[in-house]
Amino acid sequence: MAKNNGKQSGTGVEAVDFGYRKVSPQEKTQLVGGVFSAVAQRYDVMNDFMSLGTHRLFKRMLVELSGARSGHRLLDLAGGTGDVAALLAGIAGPTGQVVLADRNADMMRVGRDRLLDRGHANVSFCQLNAEALPFPSDSFDAVTLAFGIRNFTSKANALRELRRVLKPGAALLVLEFSQPQGRALQAAYNGFQGLWPLVGRAVVGDPQPYRYLVESIRVHPDQKQLKLLMEDAGFARVSYHNLLGGIAAIHRAEVASP
Ligand code: SAM
Repeated sequence: MAKNNGKQSGTGVEAVDFGYRKVSPQEKTQLVGGVFSAVAQRYDVMNDFMSLGTHRLFKRMLVELSGARSGHRLLDLAGGTGDVAALLAGIAGPTGQVVLADRNADMMRVGRDRLLDRGHANVSFCQLNAEALPFPSDSFDAVTLAFGIRNFTSKANALRELRRVLKPGAALLVLEFSQPQGRALQAAYNGFQGLWPLVGRAVVGDPQPYRYLVESIRVHPDQKQLKLLMEDAGFARVSYHNLLGGIAAIHRAEVASP
C-alpha cells in the first residue's frame, strides 16, 4: 500500500499538503485555485522559462505513449492552458473528441482561446473537480494528466475516478515533476529552483505561486510512491519513464481488460 502522510488538522479533518504547510482539504482547494488564477495569463511563458522549453517535448512524449488514435474519445485532465489538448485534438481528428477539463476557469479560458484560435472543432471544455468526474464509466480511450496530480487534494480519489471513466484496456498517462536521481543533479536543480520565485516576481508580479510550486514539487510522492498509488487505485501494468534524470517522470497505467 502507498503510505499516507496525512495528519489531523485542528478540526479533526485529515490535513493535506499545500507545499510545506498542512491545511484542511477545503483550504487547499481554495489556495490552489488562487495560485492558478494568479498565474493563468503568464503561465505558458513561465513554463517555457522553468523547463527551458523541455515541457513541450515531454508533452509530445506523453501523447505518444497514450496510444491516442483518430476517432478516439480523449480526456486531458487538469488541462489548463490547453497545449496537451491541442496535440490530442490533432490526433483524434474530426471523428474523435477531446475533453479539456480543469477546475480553474481562468486557466481554461486561456486554453479555450488557444484551441479556438487554432480551429480545433473537436474539443469540448468542462470545468470540474478531478475527484468527482461528471462522466459515465468506461467512456474514454485514454486520459492525459500533465503537471496536475501534484495539486489535487486527494490523489487517491482522483485516480479511482480516472480508472472508472477509462475503458478496459485504455491507459492513463501522468506527467509530473519527480525525484531527480543523484546528489549532483539534485543540488543543481535545487539551485535552479531558487530562481523561480524571483522570475515569478518579475514576470507575474508575485513570487508566491512559484514558492508554492517549488514546495509542492518537493513534497510530491516520488516515482515509486506514485506507482503504488496508481496500483492501489486499481490500475494494472503501471510503469514509469524518468525524464531529465528524474526531474520529471511519465507514469503509464492501464485499466485491465476483463
Ligand atoms: N496540464 C497543464 C500543463 O501541463 O501545462 C496545466 C498544469 S497546471 C500546473 C495544473 C492544473 O491543475 C491547473 O490548471 C489547475 O487548475 C488544475 N487543477 C488543480 N486541482 C484540480 C482539480 N482538483 N481538478 C481539476 N483540475 C485541477
